[in-house]
Amino acid sequence: MNDYIGRFAPSPTGLLHIGSLIGALASFLDARANQGQWLLRMEDLDPPREMPGAASAILQSLEDHGLAWDGEVLWQSQRHDAYRQVIDDLLLANKAFYCTCSRSDLQASHGIYQGQCRGCVTPPADQDFALRLQVDDRVVSFDDAIQGRFSQQLDNDVGDVVLQRKDGLFAYQLAVVVDDAYQAISHVVRGSDLLDSTPRQIYLQQVMAYTTPGYTHIPVITNEQGDKLSKQTFAAPLDSHKAAKNIYLALMFLNQPLPPEDLSQRVDDILAWALANWSVDRIPSVAGLPQSTIAL
Ligand code: GLU
Ligand code: ZN
Repeated sequence: MNDYIGRFAPSPTGLLHIGSLIGALASFLDARANQGQWLLRMEDLDPPREMPGAASAILQSLEDHGLAWDGEVLWQSQRHDAYRQVIDDLLLANKAFYCTCSRSDLQASHGIYQGQCRGCVTPPADQDFALRLQVDDRVVSFDDAIQGRFSQQLDNDVGDVVLQRKDGLFAYQLAVVVDDAYQAISHVVRGSDLLDSTPRQIYLQQVMAYTTPGYTHIPVITNEQGDKLSKQTFAAPLDSHKAAKNIYLALMFLNQPLPPEDLSQRVDDILAWALANWSVDRIPSVAGLPQSTIAL
């Protein structure tokens, strides 16, 4: 019985681009190469930032690229009760507190929260509040399969983590931990822009007595200015008519062996090749190829 469970967890704030395909493909191939399951979670936590139609377009684009997930999609918009329950548990355990600090209060400490409202365990009467997780002075370290050992001292490097924002929306850091546990994810393969978020996620796992998955942070593709590709940097949406070519380019970026010409034309062929030749050890820790060499 294989207990590898991986996942891809897009946010429907825009359409998939080559950068998101690289992440999806890496987590898919790593799961399948380990005879594992590959789950899909739609991180639709932040309606104001979402693009109408993006969630279904993302699912269609994954299908067009042959990336078939197991089971039903988990929608974070359907998980609010679970997030609320965890916050209630944390409040009861004196690990969470209400925070009324304004943006300018926080700027004074350079964005690192210094515990100003710790001990505030009842909802403030006529003020908006966020909920925060109280961190301690522990150093959280983990061994990333690509990036190696990564450590942060939580109180100095991170500060008390927002669990629910002042506008009532649940924070990514809470939802990702609750749902990785709920879906029994054993291996997280995602972009290295989230490396910095991992120690706080591991800390919350420890507080909640959840299992910590293995982590593999793949390099993030950037444009010529060094920005991560995103809707904000006008990354081009993936063209499903070029699905096989897109996968080829993603394999190139991941420094994987490249299929011969006759196995590069069809999505099924190229994925079968990629799976048979998949090697995490070949993935570089930082991007070797800027986007300009991956002209779409
Ligand atoms: N939803 C996050 C994103 O699209 C990814 C979360 C994760 O993989 O942990 O950036
Ligand atoms: Zn505060």
